[in-house]
Amino acid sequence: MRVLVKGAGVAGLTVAWQLYRHGFDVTITERAEKVGLGASGFAGGMLAPWCERESAEEPVLTLGRSAADWWEAAVPGHVRRRGTLVVAAGRDAGELDRFARRTSGWEWLDDAAIAALEPDLAGRFPKALFFRQEAHLDPQRALSALTAGLEEARMLFLFGADGTPDAARYDRVVDCTGAARIGSLPDLRGVRGEMLYVETPEINLSRPVRLLHPRHPIYVVPRGRNRFMVGATMIESADGGGITTRSLMELLNAAYTLHPAFGEARLTETGAGIRPAYPDNLPRVSEHDGTLHVNGLYRHGFLLAPAMAGEVARRLLAEQAQPERRAS
Ligand SMILES: Cc1cc2nc3c(=O)[nH]c(=O)nc-3n(C[C@H](O)[C@H](O)[C@H](O)COP(=O)(O)OP(=O)(O)OC[C@H]3O[C@@H](n4cnc5c(N)ncnc54)[C@H](O)[C@@H]3O)c2cc1C
Repeated sequence: MRVLVKGAGVAGLTVAWQLYRHGFDVTITERAEKVGLGASGFAGGMLAPWCERESAEEPVLTLGRSAADWWEAAVPGHVRRRGTLVVAAGRDAGELDRFARRTSGWEWLDDAAIAALEPDLAGRFPKALFFRQEAHLDPQRALSALTAGLEEARMLFLFGADGTPDAARYDRVVDCTGAARIGSLPDLRGVRGEMLYVETPEINLSRPVRLLHPRHPIYVVPRGRNRFMVGATMIESADGGGITTRSLMELLNAAYTLHPAFGEARLTETGAGIRPAYPDNLPRVSEHDGTLHVNGLYRHGFLLAPAMAGEVARRLLAEQAQPERRAS
């Protein structure tokens, strides 16, 4: 079966990878000049289904708990299994208890245990939640590695102006174009996420750290070589313009609360991505006008794209075995 995958973000690339593994003849088309320039390029890359359960439905945990294994198999060496640390400033200590009530898979740490895990946070927080089973990866690097693997397997990528092949030449089209489908896919909306990168040699972290706050919770994800990603706002908007000064101040203030060394850090990059989301904030594989759509990955693209790719593969394998099963 010849399949055209539209969009080379995390959804499209994981679908392409999964279909390639099942022997489909796949072409990927991407309107940008390279992969990962959509929302996927702005992601924290946290594979954190237990933490995310705080504000997400059960499927985020059940579908997301095997994501780290999927990524490790697809791009060996890119997954860091160091867990997630969740802290709160003294005045927000109640936020930690609330977070603990809404989640599972954690253990309480006291200040000595925090210092043992993250020496640079010694003495800063009296207690923390540690989600030992969680993992993270660098989205840009993971997507580049996935792309390199697909190119090595001779998968055809069509970028930019060449990215408009004749869909009629394919047996199936899988649309993974994310926020570009807002307005044409029923109920799909955008949730703007702003983020930034800072660089400082003054602090070292080994794992993502989430700082709880009633209005401005943030996370800091270490990227190595003194770089840290700080994210992210959650704004009901499909405006993909640059970060606002207000968001910049709020993110930097919160990072400074996590550790004053961030006050001396260099700001190296800012950005905003549009998370495509359905009303229940869960992703879907759906069929519209003969095209399969993988969309609505919201804040769980890296976490849930493998499960969505698995569902696409199951559907297409079933159709291949029994063409009459194809939905109309
Ligand atoms: C700040 C931020 C932090 C995040 N952190 C995390 C995290 O820690 N963990 C996690 O799991 N998720 C995270 N997410 C969510 C995740 O990034 C998204 O869910 C995910 O990127 C959505 O992927 P996608 O492939 O659907 O969309 P995109 O990445 O936007 O990809 C869509 C692609 O389709 C292309 N395209 C559009 N139209 C066409 C067309 N007509 N033809 C061809 N190509 C087209 C676009 O150029 C783009 O490359 C975060 C998101 C943001 C914004």
